[in-house]
Amino acid sequence: MTLRAPHQQPAPAAGRYTRRSVLTGAFALATAAALPVAAAGRAYSAAGPDIIACATWGARAASEPVVVLANRPERIVVHHTATANVTDYTKQRAFALARAIQTYHMDAQGWIDTGQHFTVSRGAFVMEGRHSSLAELRTGTRQVRAAHCVGQNTVSIGIENEGTYTSETPPAAQYAALADLCAHICDQYGLPASEIYGHRDFNATSCPGDRLYALLPTLRKDVATRLGTPLSEPEEDPVWDLVRQATGRPAATLGEYLPAGLLR
Ligand SMILES: [Zn+2]
Repeated sequence: MTLRAPHQQPAPAAGRYTRRSVLTGAFALATAAALPVAAAGRAYSAAGPDIIACATWGARAASEPVVVLANRPERIVVHHTATANVTDYTKQRAFALARAIQTYHMDAQGWIDTGQHFTVSRGAFVMEGRHSSLAELRTGTRQVRAAHCVGQNTVSIGIENEGTYTSETPPAAQYAALADLCAHICDQYGLPASEIYGHRDFNATSCPGDRLYALLPTLRKDVATRLGTPLSEPEEDPVWDLVRQATGRPAATLGEYLPAGLLR
């Protein structure tokens, strides 16, 4: 099931959202001064967060060469790993998580490598998932074909967040690392912050959990702040609003009983 959420905007031409261009605007400067840059008090770095490469956390080789696609991703899809909400925030735990996910995806799921492009541990370590995701992110023009969200694996960047966020929210440091990573991905690929979604927006799944899913509007705003761009307002969609008010159902479930194509 693929529904386009009401806040979804057409992707801009790459480069429109470069930091240099927006920071020359008086509005952007005023906005940057008025809003905190990062919830945890850390300044967002233009160079992006440290992303730990596959070789560093001890990845196995992929079982066959990963496929590099010549198109930019159109959006980011946020996941949770549905693993325990551990309080071991060490790098060693993060590396063990990355290896465990890869083993599960390759040996149980039969995939060629880790499914997602990037992983954020509860201790806020950001790691490369599928091989070459980091190198292609640095190009700003290509992406690696992934296996994280049916229908989105050639057009989106998948980020797994360690934990289960059905009834708990992520630790502040993990959330800040996720926001930093999203901002860096948006910056590299010329994506607006409005193009951040949850797995459940596209597939029949509870992922990334009710609590993390409910944080996505805040995440979009925080990413926009990091990019120095005001978040574009969603287009008015009176049909969508009426249906949601009448049913009280979240957007991701509407497709169960509405004609396909009514909501786009
Ligand atoms: Zn997911």
